[in-house]
Amino acid sequence: MLFDDKVMEECGVVGVYSPSQEVSKLAFFALYALQHRGQESAGIASFDNKDIHLFTSMGLVSQAIHGDDLLKLKGDFAIGHTRYSTTGSSNIRNAQPIISNGPQIKIALAHNGNVVNAKDIKEELIQLDCSFSSGSDSEIIANLITHSPYTSWEERISYLMRKLKGAYSLTVLTEEGIIGIRDPLGVRPLCIGNLNDGFIIASESCALDNLGAKFIREIDPGEAVIINEKGVQSIFKSTEKNCNSCIFEHIYFSRPDSILDDQLVYHSRMLMGAELAKEHPVDADFVIGIPDSATAAAVGYSQESGIPYSEALVKNRYVGRTFIQPDQNLRDLGVKTKLNPLTNLISGKKLIVVDDSIVRGTTTPHVVKLLKNAGVLEVHLRITAPPIKHPCQLGIDMATKKELIASNMSVNEICEFVGADSLGYLSLGGLMKTMNKPSSEYCTGCFTGNHPVPFQLELDKLNLEF
Ligand code: SF4
Repeated sequence: MLFDDKVMEECGVVGVYSPSQEVSKLAFFALYALQHRGQESAGIASFDNKDIHLFTSMGLVSQAIHGDDLLKLKGDFAIGHTRYSTTGSSNIRNAQPIISNGPQIKIALAHNGNVVNAKDIKEELIQLDCSFSSGSDSEIIANLITHSPYTSWEERISYLMRKLKGAYSLTVLTEEGIIGIRDPLGVRPLCIGNLNDGFIIASESCALDNLGAKFIREIDPGEAVIINEKGVQSIFKSTEKNCNSCIFEHIYFSRPDSILDDQLVYHSRMLMGAELAKEHPVDADFVIGIPDSATAAAVGYSQESGIPYSEALVKNRYVGRTFIQPDQNLRDLGVKTKLNPLTNLISGKKLIVVDDSIVRGTTTPHVVKLLKNAGVLEVHLRITAPPIKHPCQLGIDMATKKELIASNMSVNEICEFVGADSLGYLSLGGLMKTMNKPSSEYCTGCFTGNHPVPFQLELDKLNLEF
């Protein structure tokens, strides 16, 4: 957290079927588009009608997987995964896809999300002589599928959805094809696309675009689909669905060129910026966005307010994660390393600075200081989300309640703490106006504390190395 004070993305999953192309290469390029969803490890599993082949490694997709690795991943079916650890530590043991061998079936599985009752299910599976080699909830899901008492996919998925509590968007590599499964809450996204002679399932539609695939639709909450030589078939729909899609996918996680809830994410963010301008108007010379995630919202604020949009900070795109423990001095350096102000452009000006969130409040004071040191007269901070007051356990690494600045300070206190001249957060009502679905179909737990699954009961069971 030296360079950023952001909630961390969870994982990205893909599944590709193509009889005429090298599917492991297609999966590789699809994973590139999902790199923002996880930077710790990457992997691909393929099926060649005889067996499942697997390759996983640590690092970014480009560092983890090389041409020679792909040559070994033969077949017409492949799934892939990029990982940021939410449960289980960051090591190769926890990289995905995961292979699970049951009494009757063998599968590979890639998971995005977080299952909150994983520990209880693990204990049940151990009673069935099921063994585990990783510390992740994803292996528990895989073993729950392969050790299901049922034999048809419809029954297995129904059983899975009855047992699991939490968030899980899955791609599952089986002998019959690739199955895409989205939990009944629909917390994390999952969509289907059409390739020339095949199909792709992916966390976000930007991965479809990368392969030249045509977006078909999002998989419904509580739905499972299979892709294979017969086409795309919906093989299960839960009657228990209770849609609670993560609103933060729209605010920050998903790429702006992805489509969520039938709406381009870039457009959602522009609408958020416009709502912010209505709720928190202020006089200024320019509207700027903290690059890159707040750019669309800053454009929206500018259009609504009539105040010109300008670039003001140049982002170093090669700054990744670092494990240097930051002190105050290093945080200054970290922010400067990541963001360099266009001093000649902004010196002597009043700025509206749009950002998507303040999590711990560890870097915002340094960004404000950077702008003021560049001669900016006033910094009016505008945030495209309500204050984050509650942690998330549905697949997002968001800090503990104690660390969340808005859980401990009022808006005025935060404004003073970060050194801004004014601070305005988008209201929940304003945020909901920008969405395509009714507000009841979104999880807003990190703002309201109303989580779709009862976390308090499970808190002490989470983040354990099982
Ligand atoms: S608590 Fe927040 S980050 Fe977590 S799923 Fe809900 S909206 Fe998303």
